[in-house]
Parts: sequence; C-alpha cells; structure tokens
Amino acid sequence: MAPRIDVDCCIGCGTCADVCPAGVWEIQDDKAVQVNPEACIECGACVDNCPVACLSLE
Ligand code: SF4
Ligand code: SF4
Repeated sequence: MAPRIDVDCCIGCGTCADVCPAGVWEIQDDKAVQVNPEACIECGACVDNCPVACLSLE
C-alpha cells in the first residue's frame, strides 16, 4: 500500500516523485498526489526523503 500523506503538511517540493522508483507520485496544484498507488513497492524512499515528514508507511 502506498504511503499515507498529510496533505496539509505537503509543500509540493516534488522529492517524493523524484525518488519513487514506481511512478506513484505527481505534483498537482503544489501538492503530491498518488496517481499510481497500486505500483508502490513500499521501498520507503519517499517517506525517508520528504523534507517535512508528511509521509508514513503503515
Ligand atoms: S514507498 Fe517507494 S514505491 Fe512506494 S510511493 Fe514511496 S518511493 Fe514510491
Ligand atoms: S516530498 Fe513531501 S513535501 Fe515534497 S511533495 Fe512529496 S509529500 Fe510533499
């Protein structure tokens, strides 16, 4: 399952989209949106690299 995002916290930096190997994220209206959540391999890269810690894997 793709990470949970706290949308209010997201600053739209695009890092999650840049580091995701599976193309899960896109930035739309300055917020990260999951456009391909089923492709997530739960690698944790987006969670580990979000500069404001908006993402969490459960
Ligand atoms: S955990 Fe990995 S595969 Fe899943 S959305 Fe984050 S970077 Fe992409
Ligand atoms: S890395 Fe974090 S702050 Fe940056 S776009 Fe993704 S969720 Fe938002």
